[in-house]
Amino acid sequence: MFNFNFDNTFLKLSDDFYEQCEPQSSSNPVLVIFNSSLAEQLNIDSNIQNHVDYLVGNQQFPGSAPAAHAYAGHQFGHFTMLGDGRAHVLGEHVTEGNERFDIQLKGSGRTIFSRSGDGRATLGPMLREYIISEAMHHLNIPTTRSLAVSRTGEDVYRETVLPGAVLVRIAKSNLRVGTFEYAVRTEDKDNIKVLADYAIQRHYPECADDLNPYLSLLNKVIVQQAALIAKWQAVGFIHGVMNTDNMTISGETIDYGPCAFMDIYKPSTVFSSIDHQGRYAYHNQPGIGLWNLTRFAETLIPLIDSDETKAIQYAETALKAYQDTYVQQYQLRFGQKIGFENINPQDFQLVIDLLAILEKHHLDFTSTFRALATNTFKNQSFFKHDDIQQWYKEWLNSMDNQNQSTDSYTLMKSVNPAVIPRNHLVEEALSDMVLANDDTKLIQLLSAITNPFSDDHDAQYLNPAPPSERVYQTYCGT
Ligand code: AMP
Ligand code: MG
Repeated sequence: MFNFNFDNTFLKLSDDFYEQCEPQSSSNPVLVIFNSSLAEQLNIDSNIQNHVDYLVGNQQFPGSAPAAHAYAGHQFGHFTMLGDGRAHVLGEHVTEGNERFDIQLKGSGRTIFSRSGDGRATLGPMLREYIISEAMHHLNIPTTRSLAVSRTGEDVYRETVLPGAVLVRIAKSNLRVGTFEYAVRTEDKDNIKVLADYAIQRHYPECADDLNPYLSLLNKVIVQQAALIAKWQAVGFIHGVMNTDNMTISGETIDYGPCAFMDIYKPSTVFSSIDHQGRYAYHNQPGIGLWNLTRFAETLIPLIDSDETKAIQYAETALKAYQDTYVQQYQLRFGQKIGFENINPQDFQLVIDLLAILEKHHLDFTSTFRALATNTFKNQSFFKHDDIQQWYKEWLNSMDNQNQSTDSYTLMKSVNPAVIPRNHLVEEALSDMVLANDDTKLIQLLSAITNPFSDDHDAQYLNPAPPSERVYQTYCGT
């Protein structure tokens, strides 16, 4: 009936890594949203949207073998044993192009990893993950994706009573830094090697034949994460909970909780209501990336070299390269944002100056860069400031002096989005759904964020929130 092509390799690892268990049933499931274009890309029959019982876990797809994965993690710097407390990986689907994806239900009930949680998720946060992950994908940022959200028909008790929901999430894998942190703490000393070999085979098969495959794995993950975080910075994305359990080995963005896009450019911006110290503020993301990767490197030490001192030296050298890769990626992305294919250090001063101007005049990050891209910079109200006019003159001069193959405006238009999922619009769309089951705004918002490099959108999607509607805080809402 369904054309999922399951092949569940993770379950061939020791059962220390997972617990096979059925999702909890939902009494009255109703589909809320289905991602047909993603289904098509995965070679999955869109007809599954008519079978909501499968999309919430009441029934099992042929070939699926549901399991909750074990992992640990440093949450806000503190180590904890975790695991999928409200999620079930149904299996690994292999596409016609031989790409492998975990198909996971989130909000599908209690597992042995639930601790005191109820195993459930609520409609607002699951739709939030759907919106933001799809926005990220269309901004060309590696991310897990969202296939469907369904209501369960059950109430979930948080501060208030909320509608329960299940998200179907698609990921290159669910291997996290936290999975490695877990593996080194199991009794079986082979587990870390088994896991590292699995990660190499699944994500970086080219490392297998290297002289030191585990050091190569570390290097790969470092490069992927440095590039990913540079991409976040370039669109003003703030993840909000960069715990090690929320950092993937594949380099995809995962676990959309209190994440949000920065509107006014201010590097210390924090949205998450639980991030009191600003640990995961916009400007801290690159440093936290390194902190998390250091936790990852620690787990690989016994594999990198039998001589621990040597292993630590190798790992430290690898971690030092993170900063270089990050800076190079950051300069590349921000250089492109002002029209340079490959910016040189001298011209990069223009980026530094522009960001300082944005901060000083409290300008909107996204729409200011877009105005540069659409050659409407001079028409903006901020152009009255002397320092902005001066910057613009210098920028035009440097543009004149460079000869590059791509037209600068074409380049800028392809990297400076016109549309991001603005917090106030996301909140409006979610509250209409949760309170009134009205999907009008949700559908319109999805249509805008899936075409972010076009200016052909209603003004509300292109402009910052009016001051009265600005959102200053976001909630996990787990
Ligand atoms: P997250 O904030 O979604 O990354 O979750 C952090 C950890 O808490 C993971 O181990 C989750 O499985 C677990 N968790 C979050 N919410 C719940 C819940 N309602 N019931 C059980 N476990 C949960
Ligand atoms: Mg998580």
